[in-house]
Amino acid sequence: MRDRDRRNNRRSSAGSWFRCVRCGQPISADAPGTEHRNHCPWCLWSRHVDDRPGDRRAECGGAMEPIAVWSRRGGDWAVIHQCRSCGALHSNRIAGDDNELALVAIAVRAIAQPPFPLSRVAPDLPMPETAL
Ligand SMILES: [Zn+2]
Ligand SMILES: [Zn+2]
Repeated sequence: MRDRDRRNNRRSSAGSWFRCVRCGQPISADAPGTEHRNHCPWCLWSRHVDDRPGDRRAECGGAMEPIAVWSRRGGDWAVIHQCRSCGALHSNRIAGDDNELALVAIAVRAIAQPPFPLSRVAPDLPMPETAL
């Protein structure tokens, strides 16, 4: 255990892995396009172990839900994670093998569930009839 902690404090986490808090998949800590894989590439959930990316200093350990996607300067996407235990919000770059469908589902969630009628935003646009 102590060996693993020491390894996690170094830049390279080659060979280490963790199990997803949400879906239980075993996940390699190595990820294309990022130094610190901190979320599950399948369901995008994370665990609250870092104060800053990769430092492993947070004692919370709570499950972190992916609640939003935002576009960083330069076009990279990042996921906003919120801790279910303490409420902390973290922004984490996506990795090259993250589930694209899960990312898009989060990105369109706000547009898919507007708190006001979209016809109010653009009243002249022909809106499709919503069949209920
Ligand atoms: Zn998962
Ligand atoms: Zn937390």
